[in-house]
Amino acid sequence: MQIVVPDEFRHLYEQNEERPVVKIPAEVLRQTAAPVEKVNKRVQFLIDDLFRIMKKANGVGLAAPQIGASVRVVVVAPEEMKPLALVNPVILDADGEQLGQEGCLSIPGLYGDVSRFDQIEISALDRTGRPITLKLSGMPSRVVQHEIDHLEGVLFIDKVLKETLHWKDPDADDE
Ligand code: ZN
Repeated sequence: MQIVVPDEFRHLYEQNEERPVVKIPAEVLRQTAAPVEKVNKRVQFLIDDLFRIMKKANGVGLAAPQIGASVRVVVVAPEEMKPLALVNPVILDADGEQLGQEGCLSIPGLYGDVSRFDQIEISALDRTGRPITLKLSGMPSRVVQHEIDHLEGVLFIDKVLKETLHWKDPDADDE
């Protein structure tokens, strides 16, 4: 889908110190990210950067390609759970369906409804390289699915119910 950014939202698409997240149509957002071979210091620095930038942008999730690193690392921090870094996350099992609104720090200002699995079971490595498995549902499940999509070069606009897409100032008070 071709996204035409309205003039009044164009400033959100600048990439600078203040807004370090990579925006569409950057090529890195469409690449398949490479697996992490070892969770070393470099990966932990990347995780720290992701957390810092996500927080600054008031996001609930961020994937490494969104800061220009095409590797399989994401961080998530939905209200319902403790902030978590996932290295090489894999969805082992998925069930149910949920429909809800999503946005993306790489497509600021654009929102729309996306159908996702309700429950997922995932495996990943944590920040220390330890294998973990998690069962998630509701919003945490949605956020993790959105972030794992980023590792495949998939964006929410690829899956959105097109008639629900709308622009809204992300800095406005009521969202
Ligand atoms: Zn996103």
